[in-house]
Amino acid sequence: MIILFAYLLAFASATLIAVNIKSSEKMNFYSLNRQSPAVDFKTATINGQAPDKGLYFPEQIPQFGKDFFNNTHHHSPVELAFQMMQPYVGESMAEDKLYSIVEQTLNFPIPLVNVSQGISSLEMYHGNTLAFKDIGARFMSRCLGHFVAEENRKVTVLVATSGDTGGAVADGFYGVDGVEVVILFPSGKVSSVQKKQLTTFGGNIRALEVKGNFDDCQQMVKQAFADQDIQSSLFLTSANSINAARWLPQQFFYLMACLQWPDKEHPPVISVPSGNFGNICAGLLAMCSGLPVQHFIAACNANDTVPQFMHSGVYEPRQAIPTISNAMDVGHPSNFVRILELFAQDRARLSSHFSAVSYSDEATRQAISMVNAQHDYLMDPHGAVAYLAMKDYQLQHPQSAGLFAETAHPVKFYDVVEPVVGKKIPLPPAIEKIMDKPEIAQVIDPSFDTLKEYLLCV
Ligand SMILES: *Cc1c(COP(=O)(O)O)cnc(C)c1O
Repeated sequence: MIILFAYLLAFASATLIAVNIKSSEKMNFYSLNRQSPAVDFKTATINGQAPDKGLYFPEQIPQFGKDFFNNTHHHSPVELAFQMMQPYVGESMAEDKLYSIVEQTLNFPIPLVNVSQGISSLEMYHGNTLAFKDIGARFMSRCLGHFVAEENRKVTVLVATSGDTGGAVADGFYGVDGVEVVILFPSGKVSSVQKKQLTTFGGNIRALEVKGNFDDCQQMVKQAFADQDIQSSLFLTSANSINAARWLPQQFFYLMACLQWPDKEHPPVISVPSGNFGNICAGLLAMCSGLPVQHFIAACNANDTVPQFMHSGVYEPRQAIPTISNAMDVGHPSNFVRILELFAQDRARLSSHFSAVSYSDEATRQAISMVNAQHDYLMDPHGAVAYLAMKDYQLQHPQSAGLFAETAHPVKFYDVVEPVVGKKIPLPPAIEKIMDKPEIAQVIDPSFDTLKEYLLCV
């Protein structure tokens, strides 16, 4: 077993307290709004968000020694991932159960592919739904399934999606006992592939096609969580990306990057396409645990709330602007508060490890085209934004080498990518398989009363 030193997160008062935690000891999560009690991993997973609406944050950041990440021939990636996660889960789950969940989560390859001189792509998208969200959704669904079985309860996961999240959540929860999933998606506003991914499961996954837009869906879900009648007859929970059980396992991507990075003397710069900032926040957490990373870049589209903040110190949430990298169309990124907490609200300290930049759709299309023509590598719009950020960083720091996160398979955004590269992208077998399946979705009006009736009579 590795030795863990955990520093109590007392950065705010500038004291670092080193303590030893044994793997079985208790790790709590506190609310970043600090008005609700701290809870263990199990409760954090079931609640999703603290009662005071704050995000849960771990009280301690486990410290792994240098050897843990460098001396890796003796351990499989699954073993290392298990060891990274174990301190957070603590006594909430038996070790063998957690090990098997980690094993089932990491059921797809995460290859590091060289694209051009000094720039590689970490392909996070080889999971079932072809988006990086599969890791978080698989891990969270299995944890939640385990916890409700222990409690002998049934839960209903209610989720609104603009496309990608719903597919990963449906796939992750499909067949998990004790969990019913209801997904609301806006009619006519998801791609044909995404619609298949939402509506072809059946079983414990039900899809509601709402005659409205994404905001309507989200509004209906919010009302359901606040409704007394629903709350008293169903145990509702959300599979939102702020859930700690979705956030923490995303550290595995950065572990996999580090294991494959060839130059152990010079750790990589890592550029991550960011919307709600959960993925990059997991990378920063892994770095704070000792993972060797030179620098993190948050690559954004026109939604530049965080780049503006890093520049001016003023955090100004806005309305989301629609772009071609639409999974990053977020004007008020929820996870940024976790990043600030990691660096004790100190923007100067944060900037020595982290920068944030923004690119237009035009630049994104050009990057897709250029990299396809010159390097024979196909990027999706999200990965392309991250590629641009990595490329510009390298221009300013000529000695640096790094990688960008490719968060979705380019075929998921074929309507953007195909016209730019002037060729068809073949469907991967996993998607081809579902394209002929019948779609089952109930079409409903964008009204809360309709949703309520639906939830209460099933
Ligand atoms: C969700 C998503 C993102 C943004 O990830 P965050 O963790 O919200 O920053 C980027 N790319 C793709 C393809 C996504 O689905």
